[in-house]
Amino acid sequence: MKDKNNREIKHIRFSITSKCNFKCIYCDQEGFTPKTSELAVEEITKLCKILAEILKVTRIKFTGGEPLCREEIVQIIRNVADLNLYKDISLTTNGYYLYEMAEELFNAGLNRINVSLSSLKPEVYKRIYGLDSLGKVLKGLKKTKQIGFNPIKLNFVILKGINDNELENMIEFCAINGFVLQLIELHKVSDALGGNGEFYEKYHYDVKPLIEEFESKAVKTIIRGNMQNRKVFIMPNSAVVETISPSHDFCMGCTKLRVGCDGNLFGCLYRSDLGKNIKEVLRNHYSLSKYESIVKEVVDSREPYY
Ligand code: SAM
Repeated sequence: MKDKNNREIKHIRFSITSKCNFKCIYCDQEGFTPKTSELAVEEITKLCKILAEILKVTRIKFTGGEPLCREEIVQIIRNVADLNLYKDISLTTNGYYLYEMAEELFNAGLNRINVSLSSLKPEVYKRIYGLDSLGKVLKGLKKTKQIGFNPIKLNFVILKGINDNELENMIEFCAINGFVLQLIELHKVSDALGGNGEFYEKYHYDVKPLIEEFESKAVKTIIRGNMQNRKVFIMPNSAVVETISPSHDFCMGCTKLRVGCDGNLFGCLYRSDLGKNIKEVLRNHYSLSKYESIVKEVVDSREPYY
């Protein structure tokens, strides 16, 4: 399905809970606040099936809050894998419970994992995430790799004066361990969620000059046309660095549809207010064409950029 600006929806970002055991200083809350209770496991499975059938999408990413704080996470992954409609099932996690859960998640059918890791220094890690758990997360990462997840991506949100001096070290860490580094530029948090104006002004680090630097040093550059026109660089030390920097190009290349844990379907991190809550409709067992018209309305609410 294409939106009114001719962008095709190619994947789903599904928040399955707003619960989280971390207090990340930059948190965007995935662009929404739940208005009602979480969807039940069966409702999540049903919605995933409907969206795959309507949109013909084969990629889905589960997020939170912290998705591993949702008690039924393994069941959710298994149910969605058993639909046999998605080729790429991934999740983004703070990594705290990976050591205990990575194997079960792998066996349930999870294909890929992104782990938030914005520092390799314990005291900086604690400042960013609010928890002194770097060691536990690194242990979880090691286990995740041993189990066979591939690729494993590390989400590094670069913050001026906090962790910008760790980038080189992080690239080296990824090269040594075979992880992909996602270098993420801090973005603004929607005003509807309280905004992060002052924090943004203080800690925002412009990634564009870094992208130019990578461009000049990389042995190969790839543009992920499917994914907000993100640039991926293969560095001389074989590190793979993906850059995520909000811009008009970024939004023009956005192919994502979002689902909140309360069933709110929305098209943009900054406009959850344009979404539609699908929970009641899911309970009413409507026809696929009825669901299609609701999804189309949400997809068409997407603007070229914000
Ligand atoms: N708790 C999970 C985690 O830590 O991955 C999932 C939710 S978290 C909101 C997902 C990702 O959003 C994080 O890895 C982080 O990279 C990104 N993120 C959150 N707030 C951000 C912001 N203000 N700017 C840039 N990235 C942000």
